[in-house]
Amino acid sequence: MTHQRARAAAAAAVRPGLSLILSTLLVLISVATSANAQTSPRAARRTTANAAAPPAGATAARASQTATVRPRLVLVIVVDQFRADYLERFGDLFAPQGGLRRLARDGAQWTNANYDHMPTYTAPGHATVMTGAWPSETGIIANDWYDRDAGRIVSNASDPEDKPERGRWQLFGGGANERASSPRRLIASTLGDEIRLVNNRSKVIGISSKDRGAILPSGRHANAAYWFSPLTGNMVSTNYYFNELPAWVARYNEARPADKVCGSEWTRLLTGQAAGEYERRAGADAPPWENIATTSDTNTFPHKLPGSPTDADGKCWGMLDYTPFSNDLLVKFAQAAIENEALGSDADTDVLTVSFSANDYVGHRFGPYSQEVMDITLRTDGQIGALLNYVNAKVGLQNTLVAFTADHGVAPIPEHASALGLTGGRIGNTDIMNAARNAVRARFGRKGEDKDSTADYISDTLYNANLFFNTVALKRDGINREEIERVVAEAVLTVPGVNRAFTRTQLETGSISAGDNIGRRVLHGFHPRRSGDVIMVQEPFKYFSEGTFAIPATHGSPYSYDTHVPLIIMGQGVAAGRYAQASTPADIAPTLASILRIQAPSNTVGRVLVEGLSK
Ligand SMILES: [Zn+2]
Repeated sequence: MTHQRARAAAAAAVRPGLSLILSTLLVLISVATSANAQTSPRAARRTTANAAAPPAGATAARASQTATVRPRLVLVIVVDQFRADYLERFGDLFAPQGGLRRLARDGAQWTNANYDHMPTYTAPGHATVMTGAWPSETGIIANDWYDRDAGRIVSNASDPEDKPERGRWQLFGGGANERASSPRRLIASTLGDEIRLVNNRSKVIGISSKDRGAILPSGRHANAAYWFSPLTGNMVSTNYYFNELPAWVARYNEARPADKVCGSEWTRLLTGQAAGEYERRAGADAPPWENIATTSDTNTFPHKLPGSPTDADGKCWGMLDYTPFSNDLLVKFAQAAIENEALGSDADTDVLTVSFSANDYVGHRFGPYSQEVMDITLRTDGQIGALLNYVNAKVGLQNTLVAFTADHGVAPIPEHASALGLTGGRIGNTDIMNAARNAVRARFGRKGEDKDSTADYISDTLYNANLFFNTVALKRDGINREEIERVVAEAVLTVPGVNRAFTRTQLETGSISAGDNIGRRVLHGFHPRRSGDVIMVQEPFKYFSEGTFAIPATHGSPYSYDTHVPLIIMGQGVAAGRYAQASTPADIAPTLASILRIQAPSNTVGRVLVEGLSK
């Protein structure tokens, strides 16, 4: 949430500018780009056919067999907070040449893909996609968690050794004091790591607006991860990967592409008669529950980016991710990466992971049933289409394995759910802490004492519904861990809205039944060194409040609206069609590894999606 808050704080008074002209120009440019991209696939195919000539010493038959099973590029597209039902709610409105229609038509689509872990947040989801493993295995148990040793909250992609006084890690292109993130908290290997274990000539690159969206899917042995700095407007990276930004990235930044969209206006994609679809499918543009946000932007279209191209003052960069322009920029950067790194240009399979973050920011701000989410979804279809067209022209889609998914879904805004009679609502952290502390004092406090001798038993940090005990204090007073866990679990269950409470002992001793869907998902999100001692789950449609910041919509629960995401794989070795079998994004990595005929990532728990493989 902190990142979100910083960006929200960066929001300032909206200033009208050359927005209309600019957005028209942008549309024209993107149309021209996709038109170009569509004209050249035949030429590209010819080139690749030549390049795929049998290597010396191999028989022609053997070489051609290898050529059909070994794609040159693995393109993984993650759209942050893209719910599976968006494909159905808006699918008929996707463009005939758009990306999502193409993926659904030519790919194998699993319609019942669910994350089988909690919490359903960005970092755990992105880590799962390319490791094929749960947070309990990847160690990425949340976006941020309480680090017992450090005694503070740490972030998933913060480097454990990134201490300013050491000056060890540098962020290239970032602002002063901006974090030089790294994948060092990720324990498991990714598909890209395995590819580069076999052959270091393969390149693995991760791209996103968020650091975690770029770093976690690409992995520890990636060549590079790039993300967007809201402080400088640059695409940035760190000396975890190299000693300076590659020349093409420096050139990209020097052209100031982000500045050029400042002052632009985000208007609805569908116009004329089709514009009626917004009201019909997403309701009014500014329902009362959108007023929860503390940002200074408006609830109605058009949404204007502050600043102008000649007056980039940082306010625009901080708000960019609340608009589809952020995704346009990522497509542009991904195309530059493919071109300049020659991704997919030879037989050594490369991996490019692209995670679009703007959908998540817009979803948090306006909720899944808003006109804004509908519009950014329609635009994402076009943006993925532009990316696929480019890959087709450069690499050939017949030489590419494409996977499409999301890191989590999202719940309706609780006030919206309540208005419909569902169990919507927000649970205050203070109520939980009070219930826990009162119960602990009643059970373990010394009789007749004014001072609460149990005051330091529970850590002040209640984060992601994880409660932590102060193990030093418990040892000092000879408190039985299992007993205090039980006392606290029973106490927090009395707080309205808390649905379940799991103790460390339960999770560590295997007493959770696999048939308990919520329990299993909690277990898959539990890492003994990083997780708390009592873990709570809210009732469906309810949110735990983190501090005083009221975010309109969010995710994190074990319920369908947060776990159900798209899962499409397209390319060689895949049998196009719709598959209703239960699946999970953890199945993507082992399935890709199977098609690529390489070792699955170290901690893979997902299955190979055999029903969608061609015989
Ligand atoms: Zn996310």
